[in-house]
Amino acid sequence: MIIVMRPGASQEQVEAVQQRLAALGFAGHPIYGDHQVVIGAIGAKPLPDLEVLEELPGVERVVRVMHPFKLVSREVNPAGSVVMVGDVPVGGRQLAVIAGPCAVESEAQLMETVTAVRAAGANLLRGGAFKPRSSPYSFQGMGEEALKLLAAAREKTGLPVVTEVLAVRQVELVAQYADALQIGARNMQNFELLREVGRQSKPVLLKRGMSATIEEWLMAAEYIVNEGNQNVILVERGIRTFEPATRSTLDVSAVVVARGLTHLPILVDPSHAAGKWQWVSGLARAGVAAGADGLMVEVHPHPEQALSDGPQALTPPVFTELMRSLAPLAQAVGRSLPQRHPVAAAV
Ligand code: PEP
Ligand code: MN
Repeated sequence: MIIVMRPGASQEQVEAVQQRLAALGFAGHPIYGDHQVVIGAIGAKPLPDLEVLEELPGVERVVRVMHPFKLVSREVNPAGSVVMVGDVPVGGRQLAVIAGPCAVESEAQLMETVTAVRAAGANLLRGGAFKPRSSPYSFQGMGEEALKLLAAAREKTGLPVVTEVLAVRQVELVAQYADALQIGARNMQNFELLREVGRQSKPVLLKRGMSATIEEWLMAAEYIVNEGNQNVILVERGIRTFEPATRSTLDVSAVVVARGLTHLPILVDPSHAAGKWQWVSGLARAGVAAGADGLMVEVHPHPEQALSDGPQALTPPVFTELMRSLAPLAQAVGRSLPQRHPVAAAV
């Protein structure tokens, strides 16, 4: 159940509603929007008479949420949420484009990539420091050294940094360097990790598990928000199907379906879905056409030398061409490409 406060309702009125909720057996989670406060109420079954709450001062209306996910459901913020990653808005009219290598491999590789993707119009930088690899013998990432290189790349270019956190014990460290923490597909239902990133304040990119239903994905987001961190961004990155041609099948339907179910921003990662660079741009455009709030794309200046996911990496010229091709498409769906970052001209 959700209690929507009137615009301008006072803090005392919000607290009074929370006290009443507590007395009824609910935990109240206030969510402070630009115009209104909405209180998500989790708990008591069966639901009490809603009129009792509707009569409290400052309350506009009470909405029952019939889904198992509550705090992330669309009803909480029908207009859709905008999550700030550093100074970049994700959600809203402007598309967000996160680009960079699968893994940080060296200062030269990272700087060459970030310079190129920023020039092409990306407004966020990605790069793995801790890599989830199928084989324990594969490159596992440069760890904290990579985090330092990412922070240095942000200093030079102004692009906020997104990087993956694999384990609870890494959260504090990664949060010191990154502007947003990525939870990878393999960890989407690592509930302790979800709780831990929910207890810190950096935004979280939650990738869809490769065998997760849309509802399971949204329930995973609910774990994070339930701990107090409302800044969650969903990423559709392809699911396992019977089709072996692509690495995963990009579930474009999930973008459309989840859009109706949740107020959280939704991005598409065409790189891990495709598995092959030749298919990445087409899937990226499909994601934008379906209404995604932006993209996450892997780019490497020398894919043949990449230590992970080389076959799906776009070279900077191909990424630049993709960005160009997105301009009319973005316009057709009522969006705009990322604003060029103010520091961009300087480097
Ligand atoms: C990645 O972004 O490099 C990654 C490992 O993605 P996923 O968790 O979607 O496989
Ligand atoms: Mn990768």
